[in-house]
Amino acid sequence: MPRSPGAAPAYCIPGTTFDTHSPLGHSTAMQGNGAADKVDAVVVGAGVVGLAVARALALAGHETIILEKETTIGTGTSSRNSEVIHAGIYYPKGSLKARLCVAGRKALYAYCDAHGVPYRRCGKLIVAIGEQQRGALERVLATARGNGVDDIRRLSREEARALEPELACCGALLSPSTGILDSHAYMLALLGDAQANGAMIAYGSTVAGGRIDENGIVIDVASDGAIMSLAPRLLVNSAGLEAQAVASSISGLPAKSIPSLRYAKGNYFQLVGRAPFKRLIYPVPEPGGLGVHITIDLGGQAKFGPDVEWIEKPDYTVDPSRAARFYAAIRQYWPALPDGALEPGYSGIRPKLPANGADAPDFVIQGRDAHGVAGLINLYGIESPGLTSSLAIADYVAELAEAAKDPA
Ligand SMILES: Cc1cc2nc3c(=O)[nH]c(=O)nc-3n(C[C@H](O)[C@H](O)[C@H](O)COP(=O)(O)OP(=O)(O)OC[C@H]3O[C@@H](n4cnc5c(N)ncnc54)[C@H](O)[C@@H]3O)c2cc1C
Repeated sequence: MPRSPGAAPAYCIPGTTFDTHSPLGHSTAMQGNGAADKVDAVVVGAGVVGLAVARALALAGHETIILEKETTIGTGTSSRNSEVIHAGIYYPKGSLKARLCVAGRKALYAYCDAHGVPYRRCGKLIVAIGEQQRGALERVLATARGNGVDDIRRLSREEARALEPELACCGALLSPSTGILDSHAYMLALLGDAQANGAMIAYGSTVAGGRIDENGIVIDVASDGAIMSLAPRLLVNSAGLEAQAVASSISGLPAKSIPSLRYAKGNYFQLVGRAPFKRLIYPVPEPGGLGVHITIDLGGQAKFGPDVEWIEKPDYTVDPSRAARFYAAIRQYWPALPDGALEPGYSGIRPKLPANGADAPDFVIQGRDAHGVAGLINLYGIESPGLTSSLAIADYVAELAEAAKDPA
């Protein structure tokens, strides 16, 4: 599992207060007297997307409050992923995922450079295991180029093996602009930036309900055993797996605007011993995920996954018996994987939306046009590539918020 979000990094990002508990009652700007306090912008959720949105809103001049139910940032899906900076290869042309991933990837590399966030542009190979997968590889190549991933190219078997001698394949695609990053350093940098621009974060603060009335939006926030009400001019629901629950708890929001949600768990197994590859290795994609691939973190630890396991309710345990399927999948492209080399790692959960006629579900980012409520932006289905896309999602949300402003 990527580094625990509460763990202090080995370096310090200027402007970051890594507060582990600052409930609402401790924030002078948010002390209530029974009536709803009018505030400018509220972001629900301090995952990578909520933090990026809060930073963008603060930079745009909004007085921004981040409400996070846990005691620190990034304890949800943002600390349970592969930490890959995706190039933007797979997503249907014109989809939000395609646009925001490509834009977000470019912005993310620049942000990491500017803020000293550790990353490595290690590159990735997508491999065809047999001749029958060549067609799938060509389709991936065409989609990637259609999305503006200009540097992706075909490799012959020999070229692929010259780069990665332990690889078994009949051909591959090389994506040089895929990379890995320290996602917790990135989140700390986003929080530091947001705070340096006036944003405040309230930990241990759960949005427990709300309503839409003739004056706008009111939310009830549970913190330290008390409930207080806030009336934000702008509310961004970035609650990840709980975005639908937060939206459903706000009376007056049309229920039909809230998409249904399914949980697709992704399990990881860690490799005991040395990583056999320098680049990330992916098979061709499978329904619901990208196939059991190998990623390497900045510390050189290799992990396999995530697979796809449909579950009814969130549960992060990794069933060791799933290892058999991992051995079989991995040995198709790394036949030398030794017996006993895999041990259960961690898991993350994808918030899957219905595909709505498309091949795969897209991100859903709803402003007033979608649900009829001024000042409310809901983010649903922010699965992969949400980490890569976070800065572009944030710009998209800030633009929606700007466009929705009443003319002065
Ligand atoms: C297995 C897996 C692998 C992935 N790999 C990658 C990858 O390699 N690259 C990539 O780009 N993307 C990847 N992703 C996607 C990426 O991790 C997510 O898109 C991203 O982390 C989502 O961030 P978020 O802020 O929307 O959600 P979260 O990180 O889940 O944050 C939501 C926050 O809201 C808080 N919250 C919830 N309810 C409330 C409430 N009522 N009141 C207050 N706070 C609340 C939660 O505590 C949480 O902190 C992966 C996802 C999965 C599942």
